[in-house]
Amino acid sequence: MAKKPFACGECNRILPDPEKKNDPVQCMHCPSAPVTTDWSGYVVILHPKRSEVAQRLNIDSPGSYALKVNIR
Ligand SMILES: [Zn+2]
Repeated sequence: MAKKPFACGECNRILPDPEKKNDPVQCMHCPSAPVTTDWSGYVVILHPKRSEVAQRLNIDSPGSYALKVNIR
């Protein structure tokens, strides 16, 4: 399995690897938010309006998210 991806500490999005290997990983929706690999629970939200999980996490756009992100 590949290295665990980073997740955004603010919107819980699972972040793709940066295009260049040494670029810092950053959430494009919340650039100042901390990112971490310390997260658990992978969910894919296809229809945020119809998903209870999405509503609980305040997710309003489709994508891959972590259920829980631990920011120190
Ligand atoms: Zn974010």
